[in-house]
Amino acid sequence: MMKKPLLAANWKMHLTLKEALELAQAIASVAQKYSERNVIIFAPYVYLYPLHEVLKNSQVQLGAQNLFYENQGAYTGEVAGFMLREVGCSWVLVAHSERRQYFHESNQTANLKIKRALQDGLMVMYCVGETLEQREENLTEKVVLSQLEEGLRGLSSSDFQSLAIAYEPVWAIGTGKNATPQDAQKVHEAIRHRLAELSQGQKDTPILYGGSVKPENIKELMAMPDVDGVLVGGASLKIDTFGPIVGF
Ligand code: PEP
Repeated sequence: MMKKPLLAANWKMHLTLKEALELAQAIASVAQKYSERNVIIFAPYVYLYPLHEVLKNSQVQLGAQNLFYENQGAYTGEVAGFMLREVGCSWVLVAHSERRQYFHESNQTANLKIKRALQDGLMVMYCVGETLEQREENLTEKVVLSQLEEGLRGLSSSDFQSLAIAYEPVWAIGTGKNATPQDAQKVHEAIRHRLAELSQGQKDTPILYGGSVKPENIKELMAMPDVDGVLVGGASLKIDTFGPIVGF
């Protein structure tokens, strides 16, 4: 079980450069008061290097929202894992539900990306989660566990130490509807179980919940035994809402 809560901001395609730098600075100031917490900002590619300059002496870690699965080459418009390392990233998000939905990313491409990112020395936050339709058909665990199995195929036991899972029910992302802490806990427990099997015994891979996390619900979510942290979209765009999440 993870000891340090992990609080992650996913800024998606928001903020001007100036806003991003100011917000990062404000987050770093809040994080400084909570040395027992891990804070990560997943920012747009083009802001990563300037953000690295602002964050390099802070405890806030930097991550990209995506990468390509090839190392380098003629892939116009794509970004490689080693490039993310060059600009100061230690983390990368893989297969966020918006990438699955709008860019047709699959568990198979997620698997290639995860392996590439690990080879490049990045920590990976792999996103899984069911749609509303799948939940209503009682397919939640089946869907999430196959996302895990297919996305993590071929990883070594030690790779699981460079991994975090973000469980994000698609129907709860950006909708204001969050899973109840008990619903989240149930899925997290199933994920924990399967991770232990897939990794041949690693118990430390953190499992984060995502989907309309806000200052009002952070405490009850973090109180669940298998919720090790949160991945936050909308509420991560303002210090007034992300500050209290970091300091929950
Ligand atoms: C997300 O995009 O990872 C997310 C959880 O978004 P929101 O917090 O806005 O639901």
